[in-house]
Amino acid sequence: MTFLAVNLHASGMSRLRLKAEASASSSSRFFRICPLMYVCYVDESGTPEIPGTTSHYVLAGISIPVWHWKTCERDISALKRKYTLQNAEIHAGWILRKYREQSQIQNFESLQYSDRIYQVEKIRNSELLRLQKNAKGSAFKQLKKGYRLTKDFIHLSLTERQQFIVELAQKIESWGFARIFGECIDKLHFNPQIAAATVDEQAFEQLVSRFQHYLSAMNSTEQHPNKSYGLLVHDNNETVAKKHTVMMRRFHVKGTLWTDIDSIIETPLFVNSELTGLIQIADLCSYAIRRYLENKEEELFLRIFARADRRDGRVVGLRHFTDNTCQCHICKSHR
Ligand SMILES: [Zn+2]
Repeated sequence: MTFLAVNLHASGMSRLRLKAEASASSSSRFFRICPLMYVCYVDESGTPEIPGTTSHYVLAGISIPVWHWKTCERDISALKRKYTLQNAEIHAGWILRKYREQSQIQNFESLQYSDRIYQVEKIRNSELLRLQKNAKGSAFKQLKKGYRLTKDFIHLSLTERQQFIVELAQKIESWGFARIFGECIDKLHFNPQIAAATVDEQAFEQLVSRFQHYLSAMNSTEQHPNKSYGLLVHDNNETVAKKHTVMMRRFHVKGTLWTDIDSIIETPLFVNSELTGLIQIADLCSYAIRRYLENKEEELFLRIFARADRRDGRVVGLRHFTDNTCQCHICKSHR
């Protein structure tokens, strides 16, 4: 953790990088001993269970060079401020829902934020009381959960929430230094016996392999004489944390099915997504990819897809695991 903290908070990193790049032709001692760090923030969308509640399971990661970390954090904070979402956790799936209460309020869009919040909470509280009185336990719990996860966004209309997410996706697209990796599994075509792994295990192994290939490719070019290293950062989830830590230890010893792992350090770090802006960005990436594959929604996807890792014009960072007739953007660019 100390290692990550030191790197992530090293505001002088961009100067170090500039210094390193400026002296690329020199062989200064400083330059040779300064490794480059890339942090890959990982999140999932959809359920890994078969059949589960979604047709696809997507595990996606966004890799950021640590010397650009501050830029990303600033960009995210500025957008959140613009929409009065400073303390909100971005969770695309909840932000982009229709909130029934808003459509029950007359002239909702012409109200001030404080009035919008007051009116929505009034309707929500009365609905909770009604369900509580009628002893509808599971419906009550479900509703309460939905209200909790959307409470930070009720001051924004659906159009404003959509605009916020589009602007975030535009920001990701503009981060030319970022790379997106991921595995998108169409569970209808997944056979656990043939794969000898579960859906989420296959997805994690693929993502790790693709991130490693990206680092290896940089390490093999003369333009990057300093060795590049990667670190995975996940949203904290006890079950996933244990599983991925064990898998990563195994990869360090035996490699994945596809590659040795010599550029990704440590086992994944698990952080609180509420406090980590770039994990929330990984959530948006995995969500946009899944919504494209399941519903052909392109607006967010195409912006995210622009940052997928490519080699010689071919997409190598993302894979859609499905039948070989698929004509989606990922499959077409992967062939
Ligand atoms: Zn496809």
